[in-house]
Amino acid sequence: MKILIADEVHEECSEKLKKAGFEVEEKPNITNEDLKKIINNYDILIVRGRIKVTRDIIENATNLKLIGRVGVGLDNIDVEAAERRGIKVINTPQMSTIAVAELTISLILNLLRGTYRAIESMKKGLWEKKSFYGNELFNKTLGIIGFGRIGKAVAERAKAFGMKVIVYDIFMDQESLERMKVTRASSLEELLRLSDIISLHVPLTKDTKHLINSSTIALMRTGAYIINTSRGEIINTKDLLEALKSGKLAGAALDVFENEPPKEPWEKELIQLPNVITTPHIGAQTYEAQAEGAKIMAENIIKLFGR
Ligand code: NAD
Repeated sequence: MKILIADEVHEECSEKLKKAGFEVEEKPNITNEDLKKIINNYDILIVRGRIKVTRDIIENATNLKLIGRVGVGLDNIDVEAAERRGIKVINTPQMSTIAVAELTISLILNLLRGTYRAIESMKKGLWEKKSFYGNELFNKTLGIIGFGRIGKAVAERAKAFGMKVIVYDIFMDQESLERMKVTRASSLEELLRLSDIISLHVPLTKDTKHLINSSTIALMRTGAYIINTSRGEIINTKDLLEALKSGKLAGAALDVFENEPPKEPWEKELIQLPNVITTPHIGAQTYEAQAEGAKIMAENIIKLFGR
């Protein structure tokens, strides 16, 4: 079977597939136009997030049986068009769990301790030792909204810091709750009322869009912190901006934004606030996560089509 890898995918993927007897070609910089011209030569297409697998590419893919997305989001693939032609679409959502959990913990530490300010100050050649007092994680209550793969990995790490962990999810995994000794909030409202730090780990759905807005922020403790490494649209950015400016919330750390890159004036203002730290959607960007995704993709293809 012929496989085309049309994005920069860790070499572990092609190595494993070749070993299993597949013919693999790699064109990591191919354009959409060129992909459209040659796609009918392949049985399997592997991508990450760069290339858009649009309806017209899929319509030319007369031999294609599978599209594999190394990563989580399927926003760059017209899944409906693929499925209509009987082309299976798979992804590797488990690859970035540790990468996102570690980024989340590093953002919490950085935000509460104010390390980012101390680093910036020293880079300016200053020694403002007395200005940098921060807070500890120990004994603070971390509220985790979404107790799935990443939420659980964050909970485990937060427990190691001596934090009290409280979680809210629409589907409760009782076994994990008991094993990890974390508390289940009876409602979202309860979690919001009890948490010193709130971390979001839900998918973007019609129910989670703007889950954090002026009404839910009003239920939070004055001086609470909010961390978002899930999806930007889960927070109403304008409402968050107001809460940070008024002092209702003490700070925010964000890896994801309603617009990526942020373009609206209220998004730009938010990024510039002294109590906000931001990263440009780098949650999954560790070498280990990319290698893991490549390995999982190759193994799944071998399971489905290997001899
Ligand atoms: P997951 O599916 O394992 O877990 C999500 C959890 O949210 C599930 O337990 C589900 O029951 C729960 N949930 C769904 N709707 C809910 C609601 N309305 N209220 C409460 N709980 C709800 O997903 P995951 O792999 O842990 O990913 C979590 C989030 O992280 C997703 O938004 C994903 O897109 C995001 N993510 C971000 C990056 C990044 O680069 N920053 C990388 C990977 C994943």
